[in-house]
Amino acid sequence: MTHDQIYSRACTLIPGGVNSPVRAFNAVGGTPIFVTSGKGAEITLADGRTLIDCCCSWGAMILGHASPLVTEAVTKAAATGTTFGIATPGEVELAERLVAASPLLEKVRLVNSGTEAVMTAVRLARGVTGRDLILKCEGCYHGHSDSLLVSAGSGVLTAGDGTEVASAGVPAIIARDTLVIPYNDLAAAERAFAAHGARIAAVIVEPVAGNMGCVPPVEGYLKGLETLAHRAGALLICDEVINAFRFRYGLYSDAAGIEPDIITMGKVIGGGFPLAAIGAKAEIMDALAPHGKVYQAGTLSGNPVAVAAAIAVLDELRTRPPYAEMAAKVTRITDAFNAAATRIGVPMRIQSYQTVFTPFATDALPVRNLADAQAADTALYARFFHAMLARGIYLEPSAFEVNFISAAHTDTHVNTLISAMEDALTTL
Ligand SMILES: *Cc1c(COP(=O)(O)O)cnc(C)c1O
Repeated sequence: MTHDQIYSRACTLIPGGVNSPVRAFNAVGGTPIFVTSGKGAEITLADGRTLIDCCCSWGAMILGHASPLVTEAVTKAAATGTTFGIATPGEVELAERLVAASPLLEKVRLVNSGTEAVMTAVRLARGVTGRDLILKCEGCYHGHSDSLLVSAGSGVLTAGDGTEVASAGVPAIIARDTLVIPYNDLAAAERAFAAHGARIAAVIVEPVAGNMGCVPPVEGYLKGLETLAHRAGALLICDEVINAFRFRYGLYSDAAGIEPDIITMGKVIGGGFPLAAIGAKAEIMDALAPHGKVYQAGTLSGNPVAVAAAIAVLDELRTRPPYAEMAAKVTRITDAFNAAATRIGVPMRIQSYQTVFTPFATDALPVRNLADAQAADTALYARFFHAMLARGIYLEPSAFEVNFISAAHTDTHVNTLISAMEDALTTL
């Protein structure tokens, strides 16, 4: 079947033909692709083509697709029952691993998605501080809960109509309690705390922003947010749904020397399954039900199959950390791309951090915030995306996302990717 045929059918059955908006290719145009299988760094499509995958399920597939050790773990788990709605020993084993990975995590709770983790983090922050306001950064995406769909990044950047509330259906009364500041701008955060400090429950940030493209924090920014929050009696929530276990075994926050009060994790830690987590010091986590008064629950939370996948992935990442090699590959991609774009005279540059990268359609690096990211030429990015797709490389179908390298991307994949990029640039 062609993708056009599947997509037409999908559009009659599913809104927009997809179950998550960015998959519809609205930002780059053309017919969305449908995947039938994946192995390592490659995906095979319904029309028979095979592509090198730089989405890796938004970074979740850090070991690549269908990793035998994950497949074995989940097959074994599934054969003994896929959900009970009753606690299982595996959940404790996974919690032990997460807690051992960071001094910031004394207790954790498992949930089913990054959205749920952040939603819980926000309720917890409001519950322990007794305050209502949340401060968030423009262009950071924290899932699709009401409080956080305000000036959000990722798909809402391309789907939204440019108003501050990024979705219809978010009550104004809820959006009012979310204050928005530009990312990487400590003076703006200082002004927000000066004006509203006593009412702010938490400031939430993606430490290395990944939903307006790859935008690392400037020196001192995160520590500055932490200081401002704590001085005001507010909490710092680091949304590490992308960051945790993506750059190192553990949290980005520990590597950066910051001490957030609440951390959310997802993507990598789910091992390719719907599993995410929220963690903090025991004193804060114990405010959650049934111990405390902040309610949170989930029929499938701590699902045994997802937990088995998560444990398999974390154990592999701990015993054979792939991070240095992955980062070296991203550096090679970045340097080769930027040299080629300069030589050919195309105003595109890759901005990368460790194991993630974004080709921004601008030659004005660094991109430091959403305004910088939006100054790039999204139409040029769309042409680049399609030129790469035609050359067998799947990049993120939006200029406001990061691309991911997995441990399964070989030097040969990287060489193919670089050649395709150099060739694609000459066609722009
Ligand atoms: C992906 C993402 C989320 C939402 O996670 P889902 O599992 O898609 O609900 C939240 N925060 C950040 C930083 C993310 O990248």
